Amino acid sequence: MSFARRTLPALALALAWPGVVSADRRVHVVSAGDTLGALAARYHVTIDELRRWNELADDTIRVGQSLSVEQPPTLRYRAVAGDTLSCIATRFGVPIEQLREDNPGVGRRLEVGTVVVIVGGVDSRASETPDGSEPVRYRVVAGDNLARIARRHALSVEALVELNPGLTPDRVRVGQTLVVGQTTRSESLGVPWCGHVRGARQLGEHPGYVVRNPARSWATARTIERLRRAFDVVTRRDPRAPRVRVHDLSLEGGGAIDDHRSHQSGRDADITYYRRSGCGPGGCPLERMDPDQLDVRRQWTLFHAWLRAGDAEAIYVDYALQAVLHREARRRGATPAELAAWFQYPRGPRHAEGVIRHFPNHRDHFHVRFGCARGERSCR
Ligand SMILES: [Zn+2]
Repeated sequence: MSFARRTLPALALALAWPGVVSADRRVHVVSAGDTLGALAARYHVTIDELRRWNELADDTIRVGQSLSVEQPPTLRYRAVAGDTLSCIATRFGVPIEQLREDNPGVGRRLEVGTVVVIVGGVDSRASETPDGSEPVRYRVVAGDNLARIARRHALSVEALVELNPGLTPDRVRVGQTLVVGQTTRSESLGVPWCGHVRGARQLGEHPGYVVRNPARSWATARTIERLRRAFDVVTRRDPRAPRVRVHDLSLEGGGAIDDHRSHQSGRDADITYYRRSGCGPGGCPLERMDPDQLDVRRQWTLFHAWLRAGDAEAIYVDYALQAVLHREARRRGATPAELAAWFQYPRGPRHAEGVIRHFPNHRDHFHVRFGCARGERSCR
């Protein structure tokens, strides 16, 4: 009995001390008398490896310091179109200098299929934040009752009450928000030119636009909502408005996509302009737009819906088309402060202020980039 009591703390210490496993790597906590040479012999590795894995400048180690004593995990990543080394470094959380060092044959521009060795990297798509679920909400409108709301969302009344604890069935008010289901959390990760989308949603049909390529029409739930809401405004105000074409958003999981540098994180969309001469059933075409051909009235209604709500971080529009939009905005009551915040015009195409700004190749379509939404902690 007394023997067991005496050895128990020693055993616990022995278990906790040399081989603490953290993220599949063995870590040694340096104690008095340890040297790099002794540790190398003990763990059957070389001094050089210990230096490299722990980024040691020399052989000095301190008591209490944690040292990796095992080869860090190595990932092999196959490059896809649009990848860059710096994007891969960001995504896997390793310094770009280290990535260059570990891949001496790889140049600045990556060929598709190139295998990149990532020592000690962790795939941020899998590990940044756990996949969570979030409630789907519904706002009660006039004429609603619980049975009707439940039916519309394929629920029983009991299930609806269960989702909304404390709900009094006969006292549902207009404007009240109810939870009507659960969905996977949707968020933008990284930056538009090096990022991903978790829990992407696909852009559905709408009377205001034609979706050109469903496989490239994925984005965050928030982006989809912001897009649709602005087209709701246009079609409500003007039911006879032609449909524009919505070209690429992002791929389902985001990431590098052919023909674009951005469009990676579920916040970008390319859309054709409203045209005065009409657009046909296929939607307003992807054709060079002249200022006198631009249907400024409808175009401004759409842009204004995003600007007023503070949704858009940038709307890329060729400078040649900005003057007529600026005039329309002023005519419809935009204040000087709003005009200055919303338009780069008239300060010139190189001026770096204004949500609506010039970017080459945006004469036949505009590009809207939505800002990071609240709660998207990894969105940049
Ligand atoms: Zn674009």
